[in-house]
Amino acid sequence: MIKELISKMTLEEKVGQMTQVTLEAVGKKTKMKYEDPIKIDMEKLRNALLNHHIGSILNVYYLANSIDEWYEVITQIQDVATKETRLGIPVLYGIDAIHGANYTREATLFPQSIAMAAARNRELVRRSAEITAYEVRACGIPWNFNPVLDVGRHPLWPRLWETFGEDTYMVSTMGESYIKGLEGKRNTVGSRENVAGCMKHYLGYSFPLSGQDRTPSWIPERMMRDIFLPPFKAAAAAGVQTVMMNSSEINGIPVHSDEYLLKKVLRDELGFEGLAVSDWEDISRLHERDKVASSPKEAVKMAVMAGMDMSMVPFDFSFHQYLVELVKEGEVPESRIDEAVERILTLKFKTGLFENPYPDTSMKVNVGSQEFAEVSRQAAREAMTLLKNDDNILPLKKDAKVLVTGPTANLRSVLQGGWSYFWQGDVEETFPEWQETILDSLKAKIGDDNISFVEGTAFEAEIDIGAAVAAAKDSDVAIVCIGENCYAETPGNLFDLALPAAQLNLASAIEASGTPVILVLVEGRPRIITSIADGAAAILMAYLPGPYGAPAIADVLFGDFNPGGKLPITYPSHPNALSCYDRKPIEINLPNKVSELYSFGHGLSYTTFAYSDLTLSKKEIHEGETLSVSVTVKNSGDMAGRETVELYLRDTYRSVSPPIRQLKCFEGVNLAPGESETLTFELNLTDLSFHNRQNDFVAEAGEFVVMIDSLSAAFELVS
Ligand code: BGC
Repeated sequence: MIKELISKMTLEEKVGQMTQVTLEAVGKKTKMKYEDPIKIDMEKLRNALLNHHIGSILNVYYLANSIDEWYEVITQIQDVATKETRLGIPVLYGIDAIHGANYTREATLFPQSIAMAAARNRELVRRSAEITAYEVRACGIPWNFNPVLDVGRHPLWPRLWETFGEDTYMVSTMGESYIKGLEGKRNTVGSRENVAGCMKHYLGYSFPLSGQDRTPSWIPERMMRDIFLPPFKAAAAAGVQTVMMNSSEINGIPVHSDEYLLKKVLRDELGFEGLAVSDWEDISRLHERDKVASSPKEAVKMAVMAGMDMSMVPFDFSFHQYLVELVKEGEVPESRIDEAVERILTLKFKTGLFENPYPDTSMKVNVGSQEFAEVSRQAAREAMTLLKNDDNILPLKKDAKVLVTGPTANLRSVLQGGWSYFWQGDVEETFPEWQETILDSLKAKIGDDNISFVEGTAFEAEIDIGAAVAAAKDSDVAIVCIGENCYAETPGNLFDLALPAAQLNLASAIEASGTPVILVLVEGRPRIITSIADGAAAILMAYLPGPYGAPAIADVLFGDFNPGGKLPITYPSHPNALSCYDRKPIEINLPNKVSELYSFGHGLSYTTFAYSDLTLSKKEIHEGETLSVSVTVKNSGDMAGRETVELYLRDTYRSVSPPIRQLKCFEGVNLAPGESETLTFELNLTDLSFHNRQNDFVAEAGEFVVMIDSLSAAFELVS
């Protein structure tokens, strides 16, 4: 059917399918304010669809739409596409639903991915993606530009919080769970419960040398294959429908022009058959920014010949014009166009657009439901990561006199971060009134009378630290809420990972007052807090915990929820001590020992867990065999709690220096006091393998060490 349709299409119609514009390009140009409703400019829409044959539109015009606005927008677009164009092909609408359907005002938002990774709960990731799919679909949109499968290995990078952290396995397994939730277990993307996903940003985007967004990465082939490629491989195997490219360059080659990565690796090796969409403006940037194409037209040729199927142009029709010319001039074979269009139409077909391109308004009743909210609430709680708790100062007593201070204490936006109703997520007025700030939740927990609030400092500038110190002296404890204001992508670039001086000054002045300080970190990346960490009695890492983050923080601080989150990143001690946990042997001893404040996997509980009976099924394994590893974990304290059991592996000697440990498996268990559970993990040859000096993926014979908590056991791979 699709081939037949393609055979009826003119070149202009085909290239139109490959062209994606943003909603703003067909919107009424007004000076938008956050309360302005989006209005389609029908003349512009007709021009785009009828004269330029546009096949895809994305995102919002400035701010999240209400669901009724989505109905209007999608219906207007599909009316023109299906009733007025020659072939009646529906438009493929795509959107960034990064932590829930964040461009729909009534939708359920979730903790950002970095927090989801801290919760170490695949089922919560899957369920959150399932809800996201439902709510995106409910708007009449069948395509989500998520999951982010970049491995977050540079703490300065402003998109770190969009990742599932610094570990390859964690990103791979969470990514797979997300795809299952979003697309359905069998990738039933035509169902009204599901939408198509987009693995992004292929490849190496998250490791820019400078830490700045969209700047060059230098990644050797071995590192690329060992660290950055596996999540995309797993997602391709999980059947994800589409891929979006890294906006930047690796080893001097902008990825949008990299035939090796786009064809040889993505198609031939990973076997990916879906649609490849560019990132925002990134085809024209091959000329304008990266200077690898000497004209905008050459940029189009380079990208399309390298394997790009769709261009997120997104403001004009230049891509369309150049590509039509290039085909007519014989510079791009029409067969390449047909290949791209086949992928695009296949997705339109699979997502059910040909059957019914309109929103199903009956789905509206469940959008933002209580049931969905509970999942977000649970995820926020499970994400909470207790980094420090001297003398068990936490949980606090509910009759304690508490000072609440700091720039993140009384804002809604900071709990959600970027991609929240608005790209940067920093328009405080757009957040729903029912969403509590940390201050609101603390008041709800222990009542107004025992709480005093002094702002103390803004993010960068001191306000009234003296007043905060004075109030601290009158309090039993000071809850100092610090961290970051909202940002997304390049506007979040940073030259110094240190927490701004104003916030450090606030915390250290209160610490000096003698009142115990509880630091609450609300941040998307690990801002350096070493100078105030020692003096703090407790530290709670909240990340960007979403709309129910504040009650989750209050629950943990006052003991109504026992924290079980684990760091999905290494928390550095100094801005220049940036090293991930799976570092090399040379980095573990003085004088090269890497300094860190808290390790990947660190996270305390109000109870204690005792590990015992680490048992391997064999002492020796041969190629083709698997090894079973079992361990018993017991809640040896007196409060129910959740523990994530993590299995790390070390290859004692190998031809390429081995990481000191690598996460291979994990599983969370909920245990009542005194209860124990025995878990069994399977290790196979792939778990033991790496890319050797020839870049072949091999496991080398010799000793391996399994480590769980403080237990370890060795086995031998026999060749
Ligand atoms: C981001 C992508 C996003 C796209 C569309 C780009 O700037 O890099 O992650 O999907 O915009 O909004």
